[in-house]
Amino acid sequence: MDASLPPGLLDALAARLGPRGVSADPADLVPLSTDWRGLFRGRAALLLRPASTEDCAEAVRLCAEAGLAIVPQGGNTSMVGGAVPDASGRQAILSLVRMNRIRALDPLDMTMVAEAGVVLKTAQEAAASAGCLFPLSLGAEGSATIGGVISTNAGGNTTIRYGTARDLLLGLEVVLADGSVIHGLRRLRKDNTGYALRHLFAGAEGTLGIVTAAVLRLFPAPRSEATAFAAVPDEAAALALFRRFREADEGALRAFEYMSGEGVGLVLRHIPGTALPLAAPPGHACLVDLATSRRDADLPAFLEATLAEALAAGEVTDAAIAASAAQRAAMWRLREEHSEAQKREGASVKNDVSVPVSAVPDLIRRAREALSALVPGSRPVAFGHIGDGNIHLNLVQPEGADPAAFLARSEEIMGAVNAIVRDLGGSFSAEHGIGRLKGAMLAEWRGGAELAAMRAIKAALDPKGVLNPGVLLPRGDSAGACC
Ligand SMILES: Cc1cc2nc3c(=O)[nH]c(=O)nc-3n(C[C@H](O)[C@H](O)[C@H](O)COP(=O)(O)OP(=O)(O)OC[C@H]3O[C@@H](n4cnc5c(N)ncnc54)[C@H](O)[C@@H]3O)c2cc1C
Repeated sequence: MDASLPPGLLDALAARLGPRGVSADPADLVPLSTDWRGLFRGRAALLLRPASTEDCAEAVRLCAEAGLAIVPQGGNTSMVGGAVPDASGRQAILSLVRMNRIRALDPLDMTMVAEAGVVLKTAQEAAASAGCLFPLSLGAEGSATIGGVISTNAGGNTTIRYGTARDLLLGLEVVLADGSVIHGLRRLRKDNTGYALRHLFAGAEGTLGIVTAAVLRLFPAPRSEATAFAAVPDEAAALALFRRFREADEGALRAFEYMSGEGVGLVLRHIPGTALPLAAPPGHACLVDLATSRRDADLPAFLEATLAEALAAGEVTDAAIAASAAQRAAMWRLREEHSEAQKREGASVKNDVSVPVSAVPDLIRRAREALSALVPGSRPVAFGHIGDGNIHLNLVQPEGADPAAFLARSEEIMGAVNAIVRDLGGSFSAEHGIGRLKGAMLAEWRGGAELAAMRAIKAALDPKGVLNPGVLLPRGDSAGACC
């Protein structure tokens, strides 16, 4: 803990939050001060763990009064270092993990009211146990929280069908920077009463308010599912296969993921229990995932027939269809373990970019060529949500290279990819957000009136710069004294 912590603050927080609600113990602070990728190692002044909205509001009010900045944290799975403090020792982590109740679930309204600390997988399971579906799904769903996915406007695997976290959000309860609370947990499908504030907090990365609970949209649970893992000759064929399924029955398509052969190879090498369902390693692969709640659907037959058409058209060279839930899960692991496998292989520089869907093959091809030329021996790995035009274009270090020396070239590597993305009319951050990593890019790409509007919103809602200074808006852009 920093010796300069304002006098009386610790006692006041402890009196309000109780012994489980406040810690200055390095054993608690240190693990939560490093991000999932290990890129940012901060130093926190305190850890705050409120158990209720009222306690959260009071903690924020006390910190704001004392001039102590707050970093909201959920599962700490941010890919851009958004949930960890800086190195100043003058920021408190406010973790929502103790606010983990599902307050209500209504299968007629098709809504769920979940607190911010509910883990995404728990929310999915709660919906399923009521015969419903909460469709948001991503690789970190066993750790990521409802507050985190809303605050990053997370995308993930099912965006092509259900949209991003923002699209699943009906109402929001938020603690503002002065400790006041917006009680917006309305379960309404239609509510045109002024600015849609909930959409402002979605994707704000904890810079405008602390999400304490949300009303989430549910859907009918699927009655039938079918999944295939297909080898395709190239990126253009992957897109052609996506188009074929979309045209055949867009309503059945739940997810459609692209993987380069390099990425699949790393998963098979590093993740125990994974196996290729095809005869030979693919140069490129797609995961086709279908689901419907219709009673009359025969998805396995539809999947097989459509794949047969694609095979005849040369879009697919080999394919396996899951014959059981276990086989479906095994196919999904080949996709979901991409990030973990790359981590085990060594250092990697990540680019989470989007372009118009039609430009994806061009993007992957051009980026691969540019990166291979820039860092000889490095290994470009492309994978992701091709149907959204969102590809993770990662570069894994050359075998045996010094990880630190490789990572020192991160800006150059990201710059090379971003130049292509810009040329194709895309975005430098499709779903991971800005965090501590990409503030300078935000200023460069969204400068002028767009950045000025963001600054004005920040200054209006958090004039003292209490909430997550240094995240999203680049340093110097947050108003106030806390940063
Ligand atoms: C293996 C892996 C796979 C991933 N796959 C995807 C993917 O497919 N799609 C995708 O979009 N992301 C993906 N991510 C990124 C990450 O999981 C998401 O950004 C997720 O939404 C973060 O949730 P979290 O609870 O861990 O939030 P954290 O990492 O704790 O926080 C993320 C940001 O939100 C803020 N925040 C957290 N909780 C609150 C709150 N209650 N109120 C206000 N602000 C808050 C934090 O300050 C921070 O800025 C992946 C990450 C990993 C490690």
